[in-house]
Amino acid sequence: MLLLLCLTPLMATAMAQEADAPAVAPVGLPNVMDVRVAVTPERARLVIDLASKTEFALVSLSDPDRLAIDVRAATFTVPEPAVEVSEEGVIASYQVEQAGPERVRTTLTLSSPAQVQQAYVLEAFEDQPARLVVDIIPASAEEFAANVAKDFEASGASAPVADDSALPVADNSTPAGGSELPIATRPLVVIDPGHGGIDSGAEAPGGAKEKDIVLAFALKLQQLLMASGRFDVALTREDDTFLRLEERVALARANKADIFVSIHADSFQQPDIRGASVYTRDENATDVLDKVLADSENKSDVIAGFAMPQMAPEVVDILLDLMRREMRHQSYTLAESIVHQLEPSVALRRFPVRQADFFVLQAPDVPSVLVELGFLSNASDMANLLQGEWQDRTADALARGISSYFDSLSAPQ
Ligand code: ZN
Repeated sequence: MLLLLCLTPLMATAMAQEADAPAVAPVGLPNVMDVRVAVTPERARLVIDLASKTEFALVSLSDPDRLAIDVRAATFTVPEPAVEVSEEGVIASYQVEQAGPERVRTTLTLSSPAQVQQAYVLEAFEDQPARLVVDIIPASAEEFAANVAKDFEASGASAPVADDSALPVADNSTPAGGSELPIATRPLVVIDPGHGGIDSGAEAPGGAKEKDIVLAFALKLQQLLMASGRFDVALTREDDTFLRLEERVALARANKADIFVSIHADSFQQPDIRGASVYTRDENATDVLDKVLADSENKSDVIAGFAMPQMAPEVVDILLDLMRREMRHQSYTLAESIVHQLEPSVALRRFPVRQADFFVLQAPDVPSVLVELGFLSNASDMANLLQGEWQDRTADALARGISSYFDSLSAPQ
């Protein structure tokens, strides 16, 4: 499930060439302003700050094992060009150097085999510079050797690198400004208890309200995830507050969430419908029940006197299409991981991984799922939802599902 947006090789022979810093910076090329590396045992992220967007290229090298990342840039002014990485992970050290008149190279020396999971350039946004972001994950020795061989072969082996126009143009997707993912040591999970404030959500015959049930559940889930020591966990609301749907989405995006999990327990006119299910977004889903649920969820804002939510303009931007497809895929993987853990201990609907057009799942850069814990309109589900033991067991299964999703991301391909 790796997304290789632009793993394009450099000329391997370029590595042997002497650095040749230009006396005068070429016109129109950006400078590299900073280089940072964040490392965890499971993954690493390289961020290169640039005065403006530029092209880049990536290559794997052996003896010693390295990943080299070239950007087309005039020069660099990073505070620390050579850094030993103290955290335990795949990168031991990194170095920034001028590799040619229009080429600034960052070389990551690896402590164990690794590969690029994804790489993309972000536009400058407000006070943030343009950035190249490279995500790196562990690889097997065989995978790394294969990448080295492939890059070496693609270099033409003997061709001297005289012409910097040979620097491959990365055809990478360009997310909207400000959507850089975090340089975080722990993944950020955003839990979204549905409804709140003036919007009670569904209501059980006995008077129990969805907004209260899902908030209590979300707080339990947060405790479990935080206790695992693996995640940072934020809630979109921690009390009985009304939040618009797009505020929930914006909150996840602005905080650069790694996943977004919206929690609901809706009702339906047929009281025999019961069981938990996990939704990902699909605007074209046609199941009637799913459509009714999504439509009623999407009216949350109307209940509070706001207009129906609109699609954010960047969501229809064709440049984001590739990223959206990847997010859709990851969302589906997350939904499957959660259902897999729920299955042994919780009553599920038939085909529990489902698709519907939930507005709250629209973030193009955050894998998002909506968990329906059960139906307030069903007596058995209702009894479960109010029972502490059921809540604990279900929250525990959800936490395990979330963990196994992140395991699958960091597992070698
Ligand atoms: Zn709901």
